[in-house]
Amino acid sequence: PVSIWWIRRDLRLDNNAALEAAQKSGLLVLPVFILDDHLMKPSLSRRHRFLLEAIINLKEHLAARGSGVVIRRGDPLEKMRELVCETGATSIFAEEDFTPYARQRDEVIKKHLPLKLTDGLTIHHPTAVLKPDGSPYTVFTAFSRKWRSLPVVFLSTRPRDCFLPANQIPYSDSMPEFAPVADFPGTRKEAETRLTRFIDASSHTYHEYRDRMDLDGTSGLSPYIRFGLISASEVINRLRSDKITTLPAGFEVFNNELIWRDFYHSIIFHFPFVRETSFREEFRKLVWRNAPSDIQAWKEGRTGYPVVDAGMRQLKQTGWMHNRARMITASFLTKDLLINWQEGEHWFMDQLVDGDLAANNGGWQWAAGTGTDAAPYFRVFNPVIQGKKFDPYGDYVRRWLPELREIRGGRIHEPWLIPEYELARAGVQLGVTYPLPIVNHSQARERALHAYQSAGR
Ligand code: FAD
Repeated sequence: PVSIWWIRRDLRLDNNAALEAAQKSGLLVLPVFILDDHLMKPSLSRRHRFLLEAIINLKEHLAARGSGVVIRRGDPLEKMRELVCETGATSIFAEEDFTPYARQRDEVIKKHLPLKLTDGLTIHHPTAVLKPDGSPYTVFTAFSRKWRSLPVVFLSTRPRDCFLPANQIPYSDSMPEFAPVADFPGTRKEAETRLTRFIDASSHTYHEYRDRMDLDGTSGLSPYIRFGLISASEVINRLRSDKITTLPAGFEVFNNELIWRDFYHSIIFHFPFVRETSFREEFRKLVWRNAPSDIQAWKEGRTGYPVVDAGMRQLKQTGWMHNRARMITASFLTKDLLINWQEGEHWFMDQLVDGDLAANNGGWQWAAGTGTDAAPYFRVFNPVIQGKKFDPYGDYVRRWLPELREIRGGRIHEPWLIPEYELARAGVQLGVTYPLPIVNHSQARERALHAYQSAGR
C-alpha cells in the first residue's frame, strides 16, 4: 500500500502540508495529478499552460529523487478510484481548496474514498479568522485586525526520501501539447528568484512604488502563489526573516496584500454565491448596458483613454496586468461603460496567467462597488487623473501603446488636448491612428451614479 499525495494547486515539495501529512503516514508516497476535464478546457488559457509547465517542473524534481508523478486525465472521482484500486492506497492527502467547485468535488470524493484535507492555500484558514460571535467578516479592516492577532504558523519541511520509486509508479496519460507562457516560466526556481529579487531590489520601497505602473515595484509572484509553486506563508516567512524586518513600512504594506488574498478566499468560502452574483443584494437589479462594441473596444485596448488601453494591451499581450491598471480598467468597464462586472471578470479569467476565482471576483466586485468591502459605488476612477498620478511621465502608456510612443511626458494621458500640429509631428491622428474617447468621462460618471442610485433605492 501507498499514500497518495493529490497535487492540486500546491505544486512544490518544500513546506507543503499535504505532502508532509502523506509522509507522516509512514507509507511510501505516490504523487498524483488529475487533469480534470472540468477545469482543462479544450483551448488552453495562459494559466493552464503555466500549470502544465509547473507540473513538468515538479516531475523533474521528483525524478531527481528517484520518483515521479502519475498524471491521469478525466473525472477526479473516477481517476482516484482507479488509482486506489491499482495501488492499494490507504489514504489520499490534498491541500484544501475553497472554490465552490473544489468543495463540492471534495465532498463527493470524501464519501467514497479516504480523502484527508490539509491547510496551506491561505496563511490562515477561513474558519480561523472569524468575529467573536463566530460569523465571518465582510469588511477588510476588521478582518485584517483579527488576522494580525493570530500567529503565523510556518511549516519548515523538506521532503524526506519517502516517494515511491520511479519503476513502481503506475502509467500516466499523456499531457496536452502546450507552449510555455513567455515571461512566466512555471518553475520553483523562478519563484525563488523572483522573491529574492523582490527582497533585494523593491521590497523596501514597496509601500511607495507599488502603485506606480511605470515601475517594476511589485513582486510579480502572483501566478507562483496562485499555483503554489511558492506558498503565501513561505513568502511572508522569507520577508520576515530577511532584511526587510529592518524596513518595516514596505513589509507591512506587502503583508497587507497577502491579507487581502486571505480575505477574498474567506469570502468565497463563506459566501460562495458571489461566484454567481453581486455580494450586495441592492445591486443585483442594477440595469447594465448591453453594448457589445464597447466591450470589444475595452478588450482590445481601444477606448481612447490611454491608461485604460495600456492596461488592456498589457493583459492581452502578457497575461498579467499591474494591480493599479486592473483597478482602473475594471472601474472603466463597470462605471464609465456601465457594463456588468461579470463580463470583465470572465475576460480577466480567460487572459490572466494568475487568474484566481477568489482574488479576481473580489477585485471585480470591489471595483464595481457591488462587493463586500466598503468601497462605495460612487467612487468612480477618473482615468486621466489616475494615469497622471500613477504613470506621471507616461512611460507605462508608451510601453504598451506603440502608436502614441512619440508623445513625450505625462500629456500622453490626454492626447485630445494636444495641438494637432504636435500630434502630427508624433505621427498621431486621433480617430485614425488612435481612437477618440468612446465615452465622455463626466457624462458617463453621471450615468453610472444614476443607475447605481436607482438600483439602490
Ligand atoms: P504584489 O503587489 O507583489 O503582491 C504580492 C501578492 O499578494 C500577489 O502576488 C498576490 O498573491 C497577493 N495580492 C496582491 N494584491 C492582491 C489583491 N488585491 N487581492 C488578492 N491578492 C492580492 N490577483 C490574483 O492573484 N489573481 C487574479 O485573478 C486577480 N484578479 C484581479 C482582478 C481585479 C479587477 C483586481 C483589481 C485585482 C486582481 N488581483 C488578482 C489582485 C492583484 O492585482 C494581483 O494579485 C497583483 O497585481 C499581482 O501582482 P504581484 O504579484 O506583483 O503583486
